Amino acid sequence: MNKFISSVVKNKCPNCLEGDFFISRNMYNLASFEKLHNKCTNCGMSFRQEPGFYLGAAIMSYAMQAGLLFLTYFFLQVVIVLSFWYFVAAFTVLLILLVPFTFRISRLLWINMLGTRPT
Ligand SMILES: [Zn+2]
Repeated sequence: MNKFISSVVKNKCPNCLEGDFFISRNMYNLASFEKLHNKCTNCGMSFRQEPGFYLGAAIMSYAMQAGLLFLTYFFLQVVIVLSFWYFVAAFTVLLILLVPFTFRISRLLWINMLGTRPT
């Protein structure tokens, strides 16, 4: 598997693919789903690159959720023609369930694309 994809899918350090990126492996552990290690426990790569590093990841997460809104709208309003309030309820539930997923995926994608690896 590609190193980039493997790091994102398996929650691993983008440099060595050994150390965990997020502290909790369970993305639905609401007490700690967003907490990440300061650096890799195996190679020492910093996961806290610089202040504001993950701002781009927040924008990426927002874009993923906006795309989800569009796809959900298309499927529920155009394909199966659900009433508006059922659509709002379905979308709200889906969004709450996917927030931890988009949060984690966007941060992992961001550090894989722009993270500075140790020399
Ligand atoms: Zn590492």
